[in-house]
Order: sequence, then structure tokens, then C-alpha cells
Amino acid sequence: MNLHLKTKAQAVIFILIMTVVLLLTSCGNAEGEYIDTAIESANLQFLPPGELVDAGDEIFFIRYPECQLYRLKKGTFVAEHFCQDPTCLHVTEKCAVLGARSNFENYNGTIYAIDSSNQMLMLKDDHFVKVEGIKGGFTHTGGKLYVCESGSNATLAYSENGKLERVVTEEVLGYWRYQIGHYLYGNNGGATNRIDLNKKDAEMEVLFEGWGYTDGTYLYQVDLKESHLYRRDLDGTNPVRLLDEPVLTTVNFDKEYLYFRYFIDQNAAGEKCGEVYRMKKDGTGGPELITTLPEPVRNIYAVSEGDWIYVVTTEGYWQNARETLYAVRIDGSETREITYSDD
Ligand SMILES: [Zn+2]
Repeated sequence: MNLHLKTKAQAVIFILIMTVVLLLTSCGNAEGEYIDTAIESANLQFLPPGELVDAGDEIFFIRYPECQLYRLKKGTFVAEHFCQDPTCLHVTEKCAVLGARSNFENYNGTIYAIDSSNQMLMLKDDHFVKVEGIKGGFTHTGGKLYVCESGSNATLAYSENGKLERVVTEEVLGYWRYQIGHYLYGNNGGATNRIDLNKKDAEMEVLFEGWGYTDGTYLYQVDLKESHLYRRDLDGTNPVRLLDEPVLTTVNFDKEYLYFRYFIDQNAAGEKCGEVYRMKKDGTGGPELITTLPEPVRNIYAVSEGDWIYVVTTEGYWQNARETLYAVRIDGSETREITYSDD
């Protein structure tokens, strides 16, 4: 990652972020997507790493620390293992999951993912199958398939049916790639970048440091130094600070609201860490507490339709980390813990 750590505070926050990333990526790699069924969802962010995807009537998500894929019908609260073969150990190629780990994407109703070696997968009927020849974090956007190729680290453009068209840049644009106008945006956690697709051999433009998100109209930023939330124009200019208090990088949004939790201390635990707030994107109305969960909130996922967001909490660290998934009504009227049919 191309990070420019200028201050001690930045370094501390970066270490915190990397701790969370490493915690999340013990099952595979840190690439991830959550995109395209809804640009209004926070699709440039590095976290969450595509471990939850809106699959229409259902959500699919990776359950940690088991690193297994589960499915949950929207409006219900009992998740099922994605592989329904009771004799399966979920390790061979016969398994329906076939190692799908992250970079989940719903594109035109087809679910894509990558496995722990960055091999692109697609869901066919009830099985994930390999998309031959494509390795790396990817996004379908602007009628193309953009891939940050594993190994070369170049950003490549494919046609939608998988034919290599060109090298967009010899650099890693970022974990998230999204086309708005003639720019391809990306965010690598350290900086939010874009590249002009109309220019041949265009150089990557660093717009700002910190975590980036977009709803197609604005860029949103959590800066590395102070963890403050800003809204910016699509060229990265005109920063407007949206909140007085610092927030955790796990900001997410739908059409109308931003969802977030406050950044309390460097341990990202303690009092108030279980509180989830929403705030109108136009800045009116002020932050509104919608739920208080018993454990520290780690990730917040908005889905494109429906009245619920999904919130992951984490207790403990490293291999001892325990996660819980909650469904929270966006108006705060109901919070439900997700349970598992195979437990
Ligand atoms: Zn299986």
C-alpha cells in the first residue's frame, strides 16, 4: 500500500486499521467488493471486504472465524450454510462454496467472488465455478470488468464476457474500482485514487488520503489523521466535515442515510462502541442513535433495498475473535441477532 504516514497519530490509526484487516483476512486475502446492485451503498470502501453481498431476496455472508459462506433470507433471522450437503467438509471442489472468500459482487443478478488465491468465481445454479484466466480483485462497472491482477498488480480492463481489452494502469488503483463518468475510482485504504479512462497511459491521480466511499454524486472520506468524516466533490475538492466527532472507517450508506459508529479510542472497544447511528446525507436532522449492541461494532452494511442494515460485532482478537451478526431496522425500531440453523 502506498501510504504516507506523516504523523504518529496516522501511524497509530493505520496500525489499528491493519489489525482489523488482519483479523478479517485470516481466512484468505483482503480484497473485496460490495457494489453495482447499488451505487448508493458504500462501494469504494476497503472495509467491509466484500464479506456480505446483497443477493436479491437474500444476503450471502462469510461467517467468521469459521470462514464459511452462509445465506439469509431477507426479513428472516436464521441463516443457513450455503452448502447443504450434510456430509461435506467444505474443503473439496465438490463443495458448493468452492472456497468463495471475499470480493462478493452481485452484477446483473449473478454473484461473483474470489477464493483465497484471488481466483475469480461465479455462482452457477447452486455452485461456485472458476472463471478461467482471471485472478485478482475485480469489479464490473461501466460495461467492463476491471481486475487488479494478482502478481503484476496492474489494473486490467476486460469486456463483460471476459476478453482482455487493455492495461488501464501498471499500478494498483485500489481495492475498490468504480466508474463514474470517464473516471475509474479506487481506494486502497491509504488513499482514494482515480484514473482518466479517456487518456492513453494516464497516470493515477491521488485525490486524498484516507478511506473513500462514493454514492456516485459525492465522495466521502474518513481521513487517516483525525478519523473525521468529510464529503467531497467527485474531483476530491471542497471537503465538508459532516460530524464533529471522529468515526470508525466502517461508514456505510443507502440512498438517504449514512450509517456509522463513533471512533472512541485506539482499542476500538469500550463504552459507546456498540452504538450505531444514522444521519441524513444532506446533513439535516443530526445523528440519530438507532441501536446499541452488546459488543463493539466492527462493520456496518447497508443493502440496496429494504428496511434493514446488517451489523457485525467482534469480541476478542485474532484467532479468538468472535463475531455476531445483527439485523437492525433502519429506523431503529427493531434489532435482531442472526442465529444459524446448523448450530
Ligand atoms: Zn460443502
